[in-house]
Amino acid sequence: MSDKKIRFEIKRQDGPKAAPYWQSFEIPYEHGHNVVSALMKIRETPVTTAGQLVEPVLWEANCMEEVCGACSMRINGKPMQACSTLIDNLTQPIKLEPLTKFPVVRDLMIDRRRMFDNLRKVKAWIDLDGSWDVGTGAPRISPQEWELNYSFSRCMTCGCCMEACPQFGPDYDFVGPAPLGQVRLMNAHPTGKYFAADRLHAIMGDGGLSDCGNAQNCAEVCPKEIPLTTAIGQLGRQVTVQLVKDLIGG
Ligand code: SF4
Repeated sequence: MSDKKIRFEIKRQDGPKAAPYWQSFEIPYEHGHNVVSALMKIRETPVTTAGQLVEPVLWEANCMEEVCGACSMRINGKPMQACSTLIDNLTQPIKLEPLTKFPVVRDLMIDRRRMFDNLRKVKAWIDLDGSWDVGTGAPRISPQEWELNYSFSRCMTCGCCMEACPQFGPDYDFVGPAPLGQVRLMNAHPTGKYFAADRLHAIMGDGGLSDCGNAQNCAEVCPKEIPLTTAIGQLGRQVTVQLVKDLIGG
């Protein structure tokens, strides 16, 4: 049997207000481990490399197929999904930390509530979906537009883009890139368009679109490769048109 190991440095925190500290763990190497399955292995025998039996590491996970966004954490310094990150692609020791822009619940588990609150703030929903007689009144969407809309619909509110954004955090009002992507999506929806002005007004004030510093980190780290910078550019044009409409009372 191989004595190859997988080594981890894990940032621990016993509660929301507790001071963080680091612990090292090692597990036997197994091909195909992702970060979640490795954390499960550590949980079976939570003994540090110093030989100390400790409380099992807490993290959040659900779908295990990069759809729910629950297992976001910083892996070797980068916001990523623990379920889809393979150990074989990481340099060791693998550093695991909670996202820094959201409050820590415990260890690697964070509270993403602010992102959901911001989605509410920008009215990222369709008030009433429509139904039409097929072939007569249904609104037409070009394949190109459909494809772009679909890419925005893949957002899983994982928070990686928010983590990477220098303008988003506990000290800033900025709603963050993910809610802006959803405004772009909802404003393109045939029924959602009716309330586009409400969404645009929601991002025209403090903490809105103008707080984006155009760092473009968001699109770079998004696990779903959502074109967030495209959304931000398009929203800039929509906001300008809305400003003119507001001025002339349109
Ligand atoms: Fe995650 Fe991408 Fe959605 Fe941001 S836009 S929350 S990175 S899926």
